[in-house]
Amino acid sequence: MKKIAVTGGLGYIGSHTVVELQNEGFEVVIIDDLSNSEIAVLAGIEKITGKKPAFETIDVCDTEKLRACFKKHSHIDAVIHFAAYKAVGESVAKALEYYRNNVCGLISLLTVMREFECANIVFSSSCTVYGQPDVLPVTELSPIKKAESPYGSTKQMSEDIITDTVAAEKSLSAILLRYFNPIGAHPSALIGELPKGVPNNLLPYITQTAAGLRTELHVFGNDYNTPDGSCIRDYIYVLDLAQAHVVALQRMLGSKESGSLEIFNIGTGKGLSVLEILHEFMQANGVNVPYKIVGRRAGDIEQIWAETTRANEVLGWRAHTPLNEVLQSAWKWEQKLRG
Ligand code: UDP
Repeated sequence: MKKIAVTGGLGYIGSHTVVELQNEGFEVVIIDDLSNSEIAVLAGIEKITGKKPAFETIDVCDTEKLRACFKKHSHIDAVIHFAAYKAVGESVAKALEYYRNNVCGLISLLTVMREFECANIVFSSSCTVYGQPDVLPVTELSPIKKAESPYGSTKQMSEDIITDTVAAEKSLSAILLRYFNPIGAHPSALIGELPKGVPNNLLPYITQTAAGLRTELHVFGNDYNTPDGSCIRDYIYVLDLAQAHVVALQRMLGSKESGSLEIFNIGTGKGLSVLEILHEFMQANGVNVPYKIVGRRAGDIEQIWAETTRANEVLGWRAHTPLNEVLQSAWKWEQKLRG
């Protein structure tokens, strides 16, 4: 049985990925400092899969503790590295914290991986590295644009650090997964997104408004150069995204070659506007979500969606869950939280 360390494994995407890994027969060690997650998620994972993963409360920047963890859980075959701060707006105000956690955390992890001869890493990257692309959809070869925020910079730097380390070490293999906009929750409603305070992201804001926690959704701008004037994104079901990690890992662990670096866009290949997804949500769930058009949000890009041919052909992976099911899972989770 292959052993996988999952940093940030109690977070939103991390927890869904742990579920998929355990369902596929991997042994999982979660490394999470609980800075943006809840320990109760562990019980949710256990309920869904029938198995409690090993868990260590560690900040990945703490190299000593990380070392002790690798020693304790000997022979870790691969790492999936989710642990990072992720709020664009917050990163502007807390730039140093973002660089420290996201960049130093990665360096600390790669250092310990090298010491313990752990030669495989799957990294959580983001479509944010493309900025506002000139040509849509974006492929993995689309140019990397100057980052719009410290958060975006940390993702670009992390990609560079991994790329250069793979080139230098020869033994390390890496897969960079560039996520588009993950949404939805596990169909069991035992795990899902847990935003702290007022949500920054669209879907949790929609579900909280539907639940009556927020008065109305603010749609940030309807004067963009898009068919209905609101921004366009590629919304990907979190469980489809989780499955992409499993196939990426299987590809790496099944390969006889070391020292490879591969990059994949992980999206649906379809763009939806803010107003479209809002109306799809109301229709899928039979609920009303009051909304108001307000001014543009600083730093928003107008539109982006993924070209997913590489992931489809090379990984044999495709986002397959119908949007109405995804939006129903998000609403079911919100109701469970309020239940
Ligand atoms: N958005 C919105 N109202 C909100 C939150 C988000 O209109 O309360 C819009 C935002 O302007 C963007 C889209 O929804 O066009 C997705 O935003 P989100 O923050 O979820 O993800 P991003 O693509 O910015 O990472």
